[in-house]
Amino acid sequence: MKDLLSLKGIGNKTLLLLNKLGINNSEQLLTYFPFRYDIFKRSNIYELGQDDKIIIDGIVETKPTVFHFNRKMDKMSFKLNASTHLLNVTIFNRGFLKNKLEPGMVITIIGKYDKKHNSVTASDIRFDVLSDTPKIEPVYHSISGITSKQISNYIHELLKEEIHLQSYIPEYIQEKYNFLKKEESIKIIHNPKEAKSFKQALNHIKYEELFLFMLKMNYLRNNKNNKIGLKRSVDFNEVQAFIDELPFSLTIDQEKSVKEIYNDLISEKRMNRLLQGDVGSGKTVIAFISLYINYLSGYQGALMAPTEILANQHFANIQKLFKKFNMNICLLTGKTKAKEKKQIYEDLKNGKINIIIGTHALIQEDVKYHNLGLVITDEQHRFGVNQRGNLKNKGVTPDILYMSATPIPRTYALTLYGDMDISSIKTMPSGRKEVITYLKKENEIADILNKMFNELKQKHQIYVVAPLIEESDKINLENVEKLEEKMNKAFGKFYNIGVMHGKMTNVEKDNIMNKFKNNEIQILISTTVIEVGVDVANATMMVIFDAFRFGLSALHQLRGRVGRNSLQSYCILISDKETERLQVLTQTTDGFKISEEDFRLRGSGDLFGVKQSGDMAFKLADIKKDFNILKKAKEDSLEFLESCEYQNLKYEHIKKLIETSNNLD
Ligand code: ADP
Ligand code: MG
Repeated sequence: MKDLLSLKGIGNKTLLLLNKLGINNSEQLLTYFPFRYDIFKRSNIYELGQDDKIIIDGIVETKPTVFHFNRKMDKMSFKLNASTHLLNVTIFNRGFLKNKLEPGMVITIIGKYDKKHNSVTASDIRFDVLSDTPKIEPVYHSISGITSKQISNYIHELLKEEIHLQSYIPEYIQEKYNFLKKEESIKIIHNPKEAKSFKQALNHIKYEELFLFMLKMNYLRNNKNNKIGLKRSVDFNEVQAFIDELPFSLTIDQEKSVKEIYNDLISEKRMNRLLQGDVGSGKTVIAFISLYINYLSGYQGALMAPTEILANQHFANIQKLFKKFNMNICLLTGKTKAKEKKQIYEDLKNGKINIIIGTHALIQEDVKYHNLGLVITDEQHRFGVNQRGNLKNKGVTPDILYMSATPIPRTYALTLYGDMDISSIKTMPSGRKEVITYLKKENEIADILNKMFNELKQKHQIYVVAPLIEESDKINLENVEKLEEKMNKAFGKFYNIGVMHGKMTNVEKDNIMNKFKNNEIQILISTTVIEVGVDVANATMMVIFDAFRFGLSALHQLRGRVGRNSLQSYCILISDKETERLQVLTQTTDGFKISEEDFRLRGSGDLFGVKQSGDMAFKLADIKKDFNILKKAKEDSLEFLESCEYQNLKYEHIKKLIETSNNLD
């Protein structure tokens, strides 16, 4: 296929911008799909009300006049003859178009219709006629410097030529579903003409994504090499003795999970287990017990956390818990000083370190282990399939335990995590008070501030969450700064307010988070970047603005930041929209029920944790919305793997993709 630089309009500068969007070659450009479509259909003026959106074509009636003001701004006006109406059109900052707009020309305008004055404030002018059939325009995620329209043009440019794309669906399956040629489907997605073929094309490409995903999962599960693990002999009495000394007794589900993990660890089968349970259900202690079992059997253990802060927290806790054992426990993160890091690498290799806690730094290529027996990953990510391969390349087959605070219903779990065994913690430790959740409208702010004040007076702390909007999103939401101002006005005199958002560096974020932990800050305003898993027991209130922006599970996760001890905690959801959906959260705190509801409603927002793993980054498919396609893909992929078709030379390219990307053997 053509080189990107050979396309009309793409120079070095544009290429860099495209790269930023993850587009590095023609194939990636073709699979950069629209996130939305705009439909252009001529408005019927008679049906429009005051200030309605209008799309209309007509003949330019008068020469435009341009009025400059403010040095940088201009306003252009002209009359447009739209057959039934003579409209006064104004448009801002398009003065440069003045000489292009000749009377007699046919153009289309898009804007807001002022019925009273028979005028239009246009947001866009197009130099083409509206066709009588509605026109569908793809809209692409863009960044400053490159528009959706430009991206669309480049794709069109590319599609003018003969293109060839590798299909990863076996022919017999392709036929079974009557899919079009892949090139055809891709074309349609970028330029849909009518509903039926569009839907078919979408389903086709989604299917391909999900088919490959399920194929990888099933391959992994069937792969025998991947199943043989370490065999250990550990007396459960020793484990029980450790449990008996914990400051609390385990819940029934915790006990059961420990047993399941123990059985996995002592068996020869390689453990590949997911431990799921609500935020605060007590997964961490299970992780520590697992590390203890692993230690007893003489192997090194690693606990990997998604963030620096969490890694620190785990490190502090595990040191306390294992104080009386003569264990060497170390912390390795991005912040570890070079000299210390060198020492840690050395000690990991020669086996002096028993347990290592850290971030992703733990599975970097240059980290060598002596005899790594257990790897635990906490929250958010399970390893991508590839990373599991990484471990394999270190010459070890450690047992693996994933911990996730996004409980998902069993049927979904079995499909998505088909390659794993699952332990679930369904009950909270006793003595925990349920978080009381309120759903409030924006105009109830006085009441909300009052409730916040009540907590502050009791010397408790508060999280305030304001979802950040994407760049291309024009909807005006409470942004973090405005909120800070508001909070400062209300509480600034007596309390300290901190702000944390995604644009800050990790150091800055850690700084703020630590201040909150130490109660130097009483109100922490943030976008969704509150670290999952962080434990600030004194925080008793979570206030979430524009709550409708989140999926139920995500909200439930956020809510889990509070209510982490015996203090009564509160969550206030603020939203003027989708209140029916959000209502569920005021009625239950059972994460399993909530995620079931989330799946059922197919509401917006991601399921934390599920979408984030590397090999589930689909371009079009959505595991919730397209669950039916996923189920088909699952069956088909199993059948394909088990049939001799899989060995057919014709499908070498599929085989290669599945097997090499796993880095197995
Ligand atoms: P999560 O599942 O979100 O990782 P944690 O492991 O952080 O939850 O547990 C939250 C808190 O509950 C911790 O302070 C932990 O010590 C405590 N905890 C865990 N299990 C029990 C239990 N069985 N009884 C009482 N407290 C517990
Ligand atoms: Mg945790």
